[in-house]
Amino acid sequence: VSAGNSSVLVVGAGQAGVQLAASLREFGHEGPITLLGDEQHQPYQRPPLSKTGLSAGPVPAALAFRTPEFYADRDIDVVVGTHIAELQTTDGSGIATTDDGRAIAFDRLALATGARARRLRVPGSDLRGVHHLRTVDDAAALHLALKRSGRLVVIGGGFIGLEVAATARSMGWDVHVVLADDRLLNRSVGPVVSEFYLQAHRRRGVTVHLAITPTRFLGAATDAVTGVELADGSVLPADLVVIGIGAQPRTELAERLGLEVADGIVVDAGGLTSDGVTVAAGDCVRCPTPIPGRGPDTVRFEAVNTAIDQAKVAAATITGTPVVRRPPPWFWSDQYDLKLQVAGLSSGADDVVLRGDPADESFTVLYYFQGRLVSADCVNRPTDFLAVKACLSADHDVPKEAAADLGTPLKRSVRPRQPTLQATA
Ligand code: NAP
Repeated sequence: VSAGNSSVLVVGAGQAGVQLAASLREFGHEGPITLLGDEQHQPYQRPPLSKTGLSAGPVPAALAFRTPEFYADRDIDVVVGTHIAELQTTDGSGIATTDDGRAIAFDRLALATGARARRLRVPGSDLRGVHHLRTVDDAAALHLALKRSGRLVVIGGGFIGLEVAATARSMGWDVHVVLADDRLLNRSVGPVVSEFYLQAHRRRGVTVHLAITPTRFLGAATDAVTGVELADGSVLPADLVVIGIGAQPRTELAERLGLEVADGIVVDAGGLTSDGVTVAAGDCVRCPTPIPGRGPDTVRFEAVNTAIDQAKVAAATITGTPVVRRPPPWFWSDQYDLKLQVAGLSSGADDVVLRGDPADESFTVLYYFQGRLVSADCVNRPTDFLAVKACLSADHDVPKEAAADLGTPLKRSVRPRQPTLQATA
């Protein structure tokens, strides 16, 4: 089979899987493409599930990435509600056997298996009223539970926790957020922005409990959760609990194939796994990423645009298409009337510049490493975000002295610079 006519099986029909299948066709792949997902719904977008999709109720058709015609026009065979039980490969090609006994042969395999919500194993975590949020079905269940307001305890101070807290608070719930760490969003933003979100949630009536863990959920007598006991023995009454303590990559199939897995399927810059043929993309992978001060490293980075970029790269690898340099990662979060937009990676930065005043709920924190701009966290500053994203993509710089000047639009302060870590990635 020539490369262009080979059959490709894409396992996982989330953001990365859909992009991979679409990019294969865009890059001229002519062979059969099967896009296989284990949820019952047509491939859909997850970001709204913790925001408007939660308050209004998720509508799978409205969340769909593409119309059925899109896949039909491109001859992409979308198979949903199907779990792969067995997978065997020789030199990258092989056969997948589904739970219902179907065999799908492929010349080339792409893993876009995503991640699942991490579970909290404490007594009572199976009680009615204790929710996780990852899928549209999870969001539908949580939407129903939120209809009647009451007392919500959120476990976790990441994006799920805070977006759910903001949504529920806006719907009139009494909300407590409990997290093990001593600051919110610690994986995603710098300390100034963590402190801003702590105060912003408190101003809007949410109670945040930092640096403490739940020891059990109460409610044995009723089967439904009635409270959350914390490590100091105190109890928070609860009608509803949402656990948002991170995502775990789904690597079982990769492990069964003997591929290198280290908290994520390890891939190279072209999206190739350790067998040198199978590709992988999205939340399930650990991918080479330059980190300021640490040089190239492999990172598991769970974000929409990362999934899209990794999927394009993987499709380019399969089709032998040259790809342009990867843009820096970026992501966003909507909480109340606050739009957070982050461009680049701030871990490893050695200096920060504050642009604007957090008290105004509109400000940007710019992160520098060895005098060069590497990242920015922007709160209600979309033009700053666009300027930084474009600046980092072009491997340009914003001199520190100019960064804080609110009188000058940031994009006017962007300057060319010498090649950096990002350029050599
Ligand atoms: P997350 O953003 O990774 O945050 C998880 C939080 O839970 C962190 O504060 C983490 O603290 C804490 N945690 C981890 N293990 C814990 C444990 N055993 N007990 C208590 N706390 C623990 O994950 P998430 O909020 O659950 O979101 C799930 C996924 O959806 C992520 O991939 C996220 O990026 C994605 N998502 C993204 C957005 C967005 O980009 N706007 C919105 C919603 C969801 P430590 O870091 O200290 O472990």
